[in-house]
Amino acid sequence: MRKYSVFALAREALRAHKGWEQQWASPEPKSEYDVIIVGAGGHGLATAYYLAKEHGITNVAVLEKGWLGGGNTGRNTTIIRSNYLYDESAGIYEHAVKLWEGLSQDLNYNVMYSARGVMMLAHNIHDVQVFKRHIHANRLNGIDNEWLTPEQVKEFCPPINLSADARYPIIGAALQRRGGTARHDAVAWGYARAAADRGVHIIQNCEVTGIRRAANGAVIGVDTNRGPINAKKVGVVAAGHTSVIMNMAGVRMPLESYPLQALVSEPVKPLIPCVIMSNTVHAYISQSDKGEMVIGAGTDQYTSYSQTGGLHIINHTLDAICEMFPVLTRLKMLRSWGGIVDVTPDRSPILAKTPVPGLYVNCGWGTGGFKATPGSGNVFAHTIARDEPHRINAPFTIERFTTGRLIDEAAAAAVAH
Ligand SMILES: Cc1cc2nc3c(=O)[nH]c(=O)nc-3n(C[C@H](O)[C@H](O)[C@H](O)COP(=O)(O)OP(=O)(O)OC[C@H]3O[C@@H](n4cnc5c(N)ncnc54)[C@H](O)[C@@H]3O)c2cc1C
Repeated sequence: MRKYSVFALAREALRAHKGWEQQWASPEPKSEYDVIIVGAGGHGLATAYYLAKEHGITNVAVLEKGWLGGGNTGRNTTIIRSNYLYDESAGIYEHAVKLWEGLSQDLNYNVMYSARGVMMLAHNIHDVQVFKRHIHANRLNGIDNEWLTPEQVKEFCPPINLSADARYPIIGAALQRRGGTARHDAVAWGYARAAADRGVHIIQNCEVTGIRRAANGAVIGVDTNRGPINAKKVGVVAAGHTSVIMNMAGVRMPLESYPLQALVSEPVKPLIPCVIMSNTVHAYISQSDKGEMVIGAGTDQYTSYSQTGGLHIINHTLDAICEMFPVLTRLKMLRSWGGIVDVTPDRSPILAKTPVPGLYVNCGWGTGGFKATPGSGNVFAHTIARDEPHRINAPFTIERFTTGRLIDEAAAAAVAH
C-alpha cells in the first residue's frame, strides 16, 4: 500500500486527486481463517492489526454486521485519559495513552490525537477529596495528574463560569495534561487500512448469527448471514451486543447494555481549549477541529438495544453545560445520537479467555472504552495469539465477578468517559 506523505499529497493535488488507492479491500469471506474477530469497531480492528503486526498472524477476518466503525467507535465523544484510580486500570489506560502518542506514525494515518488536557471539575468537598486521591494514586503509578485552584482553572479554560452564585460552584479541578481527544473515524479507518495492508480481511455486512463448537466444546467457527466460516480462535469484540453473541456459545456475561447519548453544536470559532468533565453536574464538553461543541450525556436509566435515548437526559446535560459556560447559551445544537454501551458491575472491562476453548472476549468498556482502543487491541491480540493474557489484562477476567476480586472504578468515579 502506498504511504501517505507530504509528497503523495502534492502529487495528488497536481492530478486532481485521481490516484488515491482504495484504503482497504472488500474481499469475499474465505471458508477458513486462523482467527475471526467479531466486530469492526476500533477495538476489533486494533486487535486484528496487532495480531498481524506483533504476532505474525495474518490469516484473520474481522466480521462486521453493519459498516466499519458504525458502532460506539463512530458515536463517541473521543475523550482520552489514563487517570483512573486503581493500579490495574491505570496500567491498561496508560498503556493505551503511550500507544496514542505514536499512533499516527505507527499506522501512517493521521488519527488527530490532540493532547489538549482533560480537566475534571470539583464542585464540592467530596469531589475535592476524590480527585486528590486520584492525583496521588496516579502519580505513584507514574501518570501525570495535578490539582488546580479555581484561578488556575480559569487560566487554563478562560470561558468557564467561576461565579459563586452557580448552583454547583467550581472549587478546583484535576488536570491530566497528556489527556485529550482523537478523531474517532480516523482511528477505525487507520487501523482498518493498516490491518488490511498486512493481509487481514475486513468483511462488512456480515452478521455473526451463531458460534459453532465441536463435540469437545471447543470453538470451530461461526455462522453468518453469508454462510459458515471456520476458525479455531474467535475473539468477540462487539460492545453493546456482546451478551447476545456470547449467549450463542452458551456463556452468560455479567453485562447490561444501556443507551448513551452525545450531541454536537453548530461550528464556532475556537473557544474551549481543553476537555472539561464534570461528574457532579454530569456533563462534559470539548471543541472539535471543525469548531463544533462535542457534548456528552449520561446513560439512560433502563437497559435497551436502541441507539437513541431519553430527551430529558440531554436536556439535563445542556442545562449543566449552560451553567458552566453561559457564553454557549444561544448556541444551536445540530445533531444528537446514541450508542449502546456494555456495562459491567464494577465498571471495568473484561479482556479474557472464556470457559469455551478458543473463544475470547473483549467487552465491558461501558461509557469509556474509546480511550483504551490501542492498548486494548494490543493486549487482546497477545491473549488470542498466545492463549494466555498479557500481564496488563490478566486482572480483567470474567471470573472476578465470582471470586470478588473486582476493579471497582464504579466506586471510584461517577462518570467513566
Ligand atoms: C455517546 C457515547 C459517548 C462516548 N464517549 C466516550 C469518550 O468520550 N471516551 C471514551 O473513552 N469512550 C467513550 N465512549 C465509549 C466508547 O465509544 C466505546 O467503549 C468504544 O468505542 C467501544 O469500541 P468497540 O470497538 O469495542 O465497540 P464498537 O465500536 O461498538 O464495535 C462493535 C462492533 O460490533 C458489531 N457487531 C455487533 N454484533 C455483531 C454481530 N452479531 N456480527 C458482527 N458484528 C457485530 C457492531 O456493529 C459494531 O460495529 C462513548 C460511547 C458512546 C455511545
